[in-house]
Amino acid sequence: MVGIIVHGGAGKIRNEEAHQKGTKLAAQEGYKVLKEGGNALDAVITAVKIMEDDPTFNAGIGSALNLLGEVEMDASVMLGSGGFGAVGAIKNVRHPVDIARKVMEETDHILLVGEEAGRFARLFDFETCNPITPEMEKRLQVLKEKGESMHLKKIRKLLPLYEPGTVGACAVDRNSEIAVATSTGGILGKLPGRVGDSAIIGAGTFASKWGGVSVTGYGEGIIKLGVAWRTTELMKKRKPDEAIRQLIEEGRKQNTYFGVIGIDKYGNVGFDYNTESMSYAYIIKQ
Ligand code: ASP
Repeated sequence: MVGIIVHGGAGKIRNEEAHQKGTKLAAQEGYKVLKEGGNALDAVITAVKIMEDDPTFNAGIGSALNLLGEVEMDASVMLGSGGFGAVGAIKNVRHPVDIARKVMEETDHILLVGEEAGRFARLFDFETCNPITPEMEKRLQVLKEKGESMHLKKIRKLLPLYEPGTVGACAVDRNSEIAVATSTGGILGKLPGRVGDSAIIGAGTFASKWGGVSVTGYGEGIIKLGVAWRTTELMKKRKPDEAIRQLIEEGRKQNTYFGVIGIDKYGNVGFDYNTESMSYAYIIKQ
């Protein structure tokens, strides 16, 4: 059994068709890697890079802007066997998830942030790019014009109103290896230097030998609840959909908005959210 599940963010989806198309393509291309005998890590990286290139999603090109109108991206990857790598608040790279993988494979660390994460990317000649789109500039302008304070409490209230678009993928390959990747531009109007759950082990991304999880939504709440780690732990005894439901319920009770996707080593997938919507797609085959 091999399988992959991807998400394109949780919140209020304005452009449903584009979300469906983008997540479907990502799942198909990730699945192709698995079908051809590739490993789960290559599959999730392939899927996430497709969505980083698609301005529909808040990751890579089309990332949400911070308060200064800049893009600072977070991304992470994890293997069921324990490897983890992440970048936080990285600027001007095309595929943050590739740099996260490099951190996992080439360093003794798990997280590099800011300017130095960018320097690390340049050492390996990763493609640079300006991920700012006019659409995002417009949306930051609207946020500012609404006169809303940019303090996090206010953003928290506004979050369910904003179009989502963080991306993530979880896969299991023919050797029952699990891999997870997550990538985001973060929350629109965030303070410069803010790093969210998508770069934090156990928060936005986690994998164990039983299963793997990628999370999207209100990052600070996700970190406090340890959503990805706790959901994966529950998968030792429960199927992904049951495990995910428990954390979603807990989030709802605490007014913490997020969505979760997961896969276990048997190829069972799960997904749920307490936001208005979440885009996702999956393919599982014997
Ligand atoms: N979790 C992301 C963050 O807080 C945002 C999102 O998933 O939409 O950075």
